[in-house]
Amino acid sequence: MEEVALEIIGNIPKAELHVHLEGSIPLDTLNQLAERKGLPPFLESPYRFSDFQEFDALFRRLGPYFDKEQDFYEIALAFAKQLTRQGIVYCEATIMPYVHVARGISFRGLIEAIDAAFTEVEKGHGIRIMLIYAIPRTIGSEAGEKTLDWMAQNPNPRVVAIDLAGPELPGTIAPFAPVFERARRMGLKTVAHAGEFLGPQAIWDTIELLQPDRIGHGITAVCDRPLINHLAEKRVPLDISITSNVKLKAVESLKAHPVRRFYDAGIPITINTDDPAFFQTTLSEEFLHLSRELGFRYDEIEGLIQNAFIYGFGNK
Ligand SMILES: [Zn+2]
Repeated sequence: MEEVALEIIGNIPKAELHVHLEGSIPLDTLNQLAERKGLPPFLESPYRFSDFQEFDALFRRLGPYFDKEQDFYEIALAFAKQLTRQGIVYCEATIMPYVHVARGISFRGLIEAIDAAFTEVEKGHGIRIMLIYAIPRTIGSEAGEKTLDWMAQNPNPRVVAIDLAGPELPGTIAPFAPVFERARRMGLKTVAHAGEFLGPQAIWDTIELLQPDRIGHGITAVCDRPLINHLAEKRVPLDISITSNVKLKAVESLKAHPVRRFYDAGIPITINTDDPAFFQTTLSEEFLHLSRELGFRYDEIEGLIQNAFIYGFGNK
């Protein structure tokens, strides 16, 4: 029964709006990169961690495995092929150029490598892949201004939005208001991670100060009824990633995830994997969890699949 459901969901054309390229590298791609660089291969999955700190540390440990522009061609190629195998026909992939440029990678080379890989897979596969530039909030607004500078110097029609990402710490929202304003003037859409770990005030502040078109996660809104009503009335979409939230211990279990309450309250939501390699999940499995653990009916799941097309930026 479950296998059939997974198969059915797998065959429905889907869109994914919240997936970090750096968190989507398959193990065999990592090992191909390791071999070329003379780095130790991974005999088993390195994607093991028990909390956000370990997750963050693992991200840093993997850095040497992709430290050249060409590595991102291979990563983006493997990523895009994975999407096509899952029946994903539209995707907004997030990449954080600032951290890679800080490691000595050329911005232009990075984006050209990713663009070339996506173009190659798009040919003949009926898929469109857009890019979102994430900004590391802990660096400060300079990271945002730099990212926009580089973008202006290297325009690419694939880029649809910026996204404020990285560990949520107090005081890391307001400094980005001018960055978000500038991005809008440049014709970009905006996303901000908020309310994954920090309480609902962080979501209120993000809405007020940054006015993002979508919010990444937003799950702590569950303890603030006026905020739930606001998100529903103002039609602020939340990018929801249930396995990510459980594995990073932002929620206790799949069954305890607030996605059902958000859905019933009328908040526009989309379903995403966030970092599928780290969380050992796929988009189809996320929908399967909704059905098995959270009581979503098949027609509701179909509606959620459609939402990702509605709230994607590339279709406007
Ligand atoms: Zn994310």
